[in-house]
Amino acid sequence: MTEHVLVINAGSSSLKYSLVDSASGEAAATGLVEQIGEDSSHHVHHGPKGEWNDDQPIANHEAALEAAVRAFETQGPALADVDIVAVGHRVVHGGDRFAAPALIDDELIAAVTELVPLAPLHNPANLEGIKVARRLLPDLPHVAVFDTAFHQTLPPHAYTYAVPYEWQEKYGVRRYGFHGTSHAFVSAEAARLLGRSPDEINVIVLHLGNGCSAAAIRGGQSVDTSMGLTPLEGLVMGTRSGDVDPAIHGLLARVAGRSAEETDYTLNSESGLKGLTGVNDFREISRRRAAGDERAQLAFDIYCRRIKKYIGAYYAVLGTVDAIVFTAGVGQHSAEVRAAAVGGLDAFGIHLDADRNARSETFASTDDSPVAVLVIPTNEEWQIAREALTVVRQS
Ligand code: ADP
Repeated sequence: MTEHVLVINAGSSSLKYSLVDSASGEAAATGLVEQIGEDSSHHVHHGPKGEWNDDQPIANHEAALEAAVRAFETQGPALADVDIVAVGHRVVHGGDRFAAPALIDDELIAAVTELVPLAPLHNPANLEGIKVARRLLPDLPHVAVFDTAFHQTLPPHAYTYAVPYEWQEKYGVRRYGFHGTSHAFVSAEAARLLGRSPDEINVIVLHLGNGCSAAAIRGGQSVDTSMGLTPLEGLVMGTRSGDVDPAIHGLLARVAGRSAEETDYTLNSESGLKGLTGVNDFREISRRRAAGDERAQLAFDIYCRRIKKYIGAYYAVLGTVDAIVFTAGVGQHSAEVRAAAVGGLDAFGIHLDADRNARSETFASTDDSPVAVLVIPTNEEWQIAREALTVVRQS
């Protein structure tokens, strides 16, 4: 029987789970409970019997995980019939305490709790998921896999902001970076596809989902990344602005009486593509742009220009680049974004093949392009499963 890991991603009102074969990456079952704590809860489970849906209200995360365990019993595969070796938990913020995945114990829970001020929306939900899973599945080892850990290799001059140095010492104000499991997964895949060892190649990864981030990866180690203290910095995203002048906060306080919290909320939840066009779904932006909508065109241009600027910056940071990797919803599916982002960069040795790119082929560059342009689906659940397994084997 192959070893499986139950991967849990607990959000503030959702619980996502996946039972992953750690060798092949295949999911024996996946599920999502949404709108926890509301009357309109929804649970969908994909197992061997196909898709199963349930709309009963689910009061809290404990009830959500209990519902997931019941779905495994009724819809399969029964957890008792699967060789589960660990539960892998996605944890968003590991601060500078965690540069690697770690076995969950009371000390780790205390450390992740101390990091709540840095990730007030995410870490409490992740902790709730950990607590209920440890209660309901007490006989399995539980492992925390951090979004920030992969970027702990950033050098000090990449992660330190030019602000009073004591802010970093007192309040942890520095760049951490996020989407680490995705950057780790696709950069390793890029090496495999190029037939090289990860430590021999330099890669720029563009993770373009609802959240978007870029990373410069030298020899398998992250040396720069676009998200910073929080996931707000960097590329333009579905609802987040990415890079802006921090003076926006002060200006809006003076001219509009807006508090820092209000502006923070707007920059995170009502900006980016949504702020510019009213919608955050990239497919809708594409449709409107094709129909001649000028605002959608402007949003597209801003989005792609920001990506191009980061490619240029990270090319300069790395010196030489073997591959540029596009991943996540937009990165994998939008040929027009890839073309706009790397178009005109032939002088950098980046030669896109228009037909291959239009078909979203894995190798979207020409055969003789010195820099490969790759389209690689990310698989964060598999990465979490593999990392959890490594921790369990070491312990
Ligand atoms: P998340 O970050 O939530 O995991 P995804 O990686 O699924 O999100 O990416 C979601 C984004 O990908 C959305 O903006 C969606 O519109 C976009 N997307 C999905 N399919 C396509 C497509 N065929 N063309 C362009 N954009 C797409």
